[in-house]
Amino acid sequence: MNKQETLQKIRTAGVIGAGGAGFPTYKKLDANVEHIIANGAECEPLLYKDRSVMLQEPQALIRGLEIMRELTSAKKVTIAVKKKNADVAEMLRSLAEPKGMALFIYDDVYPAGDEYVLVYEITGRQIPPGGIPLQVGCVVDNVETIVNIAKAADENRPVVDKYVTITGEVKNPLTTVVPVGTSLADCITLAGGATTAHPVVLTGGVMMGGLERDLTVPVSKTNGGVIVLPEDHFLVKHKSKSKETYTRIGHGQCDQCSMCTEMCPRYLLGYPIEPHKVMRTLLMTGEAKDRGSLWAQYCCECNVCTLIACPEGLDPKSICVDAKQTLRENNLSRTAAELEMLFRPVHPVRKGREVPIPKVYQRLDIKKYDRHAKFLKTESNFKKAVIPMNSHVGAPASPQVSTGQKVKKGDLLANVAEADLGCPVHASVDGAVQLIDAKGIHIV
Ligand code: SF4
Ligand code: SF4
Repeated sequence: MNKQETLQKIRTAGVIGAGGAGFPTYKKLDANVEHIIANGAECEPLLYKDRSVMLQEPQALIRGLEIMRELTSAKKVTIAVKKKNADVAEMLRSLAEPKGMALFIYDDVYPAGDEYVLVYEITGRQIPPGGIPLQVGCVVDNVETIVNIAKAADENRPVVDKYVTITGEVKNPLTTVVPVGTSLADCITLAGGATTAHPVVLTGGVMMGGLERDLTVPVSKTNGGVIVLPEDHFLVKHKSKSKETYTRIGHGQCDQCSMCTEMCPRYLLGYPIEPHKVMRTLLMTGEAKDRGSLWAQYCCECNVCTLIACPEGLDPKSICVDAKQTLRENNLSRTAAELEMLFRPVHPVRKGREVPIPKVYQRLDIKKYDRHAKFLKTESNFKKAVIPMNSHVGAPASPQVSTGQKVKKGDLLANVAEADLGCPVHASVDGAVQLIDAKGIHIV
């Protein structure tokens, strides 16, 4: 099989980044690189999703890496694993080293899984501001994505299942595999039900995850965490604040201590991001403040400034997110000359300012949820799913089915024109198409 045929198989199977943004994988692999990095450095607290992928499907992970190496002509392959998963790393080492692949063990810190961090730690190279690993000769993919590459290329298997950790205020936390499109409510049922009267879900992770009160929302190809919290938990209150509220409080209380900047992982890596300067724009009085500060442009929304650094409990991350939107709307960006001046070598104290995971547990008041969500193969016979059509970066998929139509697990449901960036989506359960709406294609 030639390179384009393999890439087409990966596209046809709907493989996208399983660890976050959902970038279509065929596009990422259509390049020659020097170094492939398998990202198993799961750094969001409470999640065991990547650990489970590596333990359950190590052969597929290695096979996926071989396919990636062939596609990209990479000379080096490294699997990044956190220290807490040293047992997994040892198991992988026996499979990886005979194939010429290396293991990299990273400290239990946040945000270890950020690709900018991993590329720097493993290669010593800084990705250019706003750039991608390809610009420094690397491709970084989540371990679940790599397993999906192997299944797509070798078996023509579409992505219809998702590894997910279901934890927090649930009876029996677990990590399992569910059909893509399973509702948050059904996930909670799998974990024995909620142990709080008004469950609220953090999707993806406690640090970067979004808040979801609608439990009919489906698990997408990119969501690896369903973290259930009570309505009155600190994180729920913090993440629920309206723009008006966090702006008003920030305006009144920021004393410019600059702790947010001093702890910012991207600032420490040398990027021109200084959230305390973004906060300064709140000090303007009058109507409709323009918060398009260029000091926000390279914020990766890791939330360290808001949830760990700020001694006043303010929300510089949200202020940066708003500022980035203003920059986009007004087409504002750093010039090349500014970047040349502002993009610096890595800060000499960076290692000392990485956030240890125990500190994250303590600051976020989630220690009591630190129960090992072990992998359990679910015996449930899933009968319904809502398949999102827009969980990937690029053009949303257009439905290729109509209501009432019978479908089988693996059937194509929606597709993206060949010329556009994007991926098809497939049925994850057998059934009939009941409805097509903004949430996705409902199968019962
Ligand atoms: S850490 Fe908080 S108080 Fe200090 S500069 Fe940043 S936002 Fe302001
Ligand atoms: S969220 Fe805060 S700490 Fe993270 S990159 Fe943005 S400004 Fe820096």
